[in-house]
Amino acid sequence: MKTSRPIRARIAPAALRHNYRLAKLHAPSAKAWAVIKADAYGHGQWRAVEALRGEADGFALLECDNAIALREAEVRQPLLLLEGIFSVRDARAVIEYDLTSIVHCIDQLEMLIAASREAPRRGTQRQQNPLKIYLKLNSGMNRLGFTARQLPPVLETLRQFPQHEVTLMTHFADADGERGIAWQMDRFKAMTGHWPGLVSLANSAAILRHPQAQADWVRPGIMLYGASPFADQAAAALGLQPVMTLQSAIIGVQNLLAGDRVGYGGTFTAARNMRIGIVACGYADGYPRHAPSGTPILVMGRRTTTLGRVSMDMLACDLTDIREAGIGAPVTLWGDGLAADEVATAAGTIAYELFCALAPRVPVAVSGS
Ligand SMILES: *Cc1c(COP(=O)(O)O)cnc(C)c1O
Repeated sequence: MKTSRPIRARIAPAALRHNYRLAKLHAPSAKAWAVIKADAYGHGQWRAVEALRGEADGFALLECDNAIALREAEVRQPLLLLEGIFSVRDARAVIEYDLTSIVHCIDQLEMLIAASREAPRRGTQRQQNPLKIYLKLNSGMNRLGFTARQLPPVLETLRQFPQHEVTLMTHFADADGERGIAWQMDRFKAMTGHWPGLVSLANSAAILRHPQAQADWVRPGIMLYGASPFADQAAAALGLQPVMTLQSAIIGVQNLLAGDRVGYGGTFTAARNMRIGIVACGYADGYPRHAPSGTPILVMGRRTTTLGRVSMDMLACDLTDIREAGIGAPVTLWGDGLAADEVATAAGTIAYELFCALAPRVPVAVSGS
């Protein structure tokens, strides 16, 4: 007998490994950072690290404290801080824990160089490691990074420290879209000339569509979690496997007469007599409140649609054609059998946001290993 509210997120580590290997197949001559920021896009940082511990070339994340925690858990791969450091304390941790830091502005560079010149802290067994940085260039995204005008003095400063390991990187704004990456590649090349060192360019979309951007290290994120970075190509068609399956069950059934309405605001009106199911999943679980009537959902493995507004703890779906489905019937909100991308598109968002929004109150189960 079930003893708790039936909602669960099931995480499949084998699918995560499959997707990571697929990224490597697309970029065979590059190494690949497994991007595990935002708690591994809502899948759980530690679950992702355990799944890829023996496999990933490196892990990329945001918070310095999380990187330290990985080191303390004996994760030995390179660890990349995707927004770099936020304090002198972070700068010292980069040296002490042998982290790789993005540098997107002069302040960060100054803090890191200062930390690299300090004597090792007393009581630490670690060596003073060389500084490892990813110099971020603004090639057109206009978010973070050095411009063509700012870069030369930065490279000049770094020339005084040949022991430091410098990789040049940039981020694409439209690798999944019409504008593509050529315009940013051109700007990047114009900025970096005959750079002899390492380069990192590609996110998931560029890995899958732009083989000319593989460079030395790729940075797959969303594809690891089995969602497509493209509006016009499904994850399954790309060979990706869903990692998170959000499941619940029917906890109520209503028989409607033509003209009856469903949920807050009565935004759905039955055009005929219908049977509907109430699912134990709402926006407080992370299901998008903006998903309109008609958003796909699986009941007993069969596709149907949501009806009316999503409530905090519940949503309604059409069971008229799934007559065997009653209270307790299993429901899949997204994952195996229903791509998160489809639900996201119906709700006017992207799977990234659905995954990241998975609420802490949803219990997580890890399947197999
Ligand atoms: C998040 C992030 C990525 C991964 O992007 P996806 O679109 O999820 O593959 C790559 N590079 C940087 C710098 C990022 O911040």
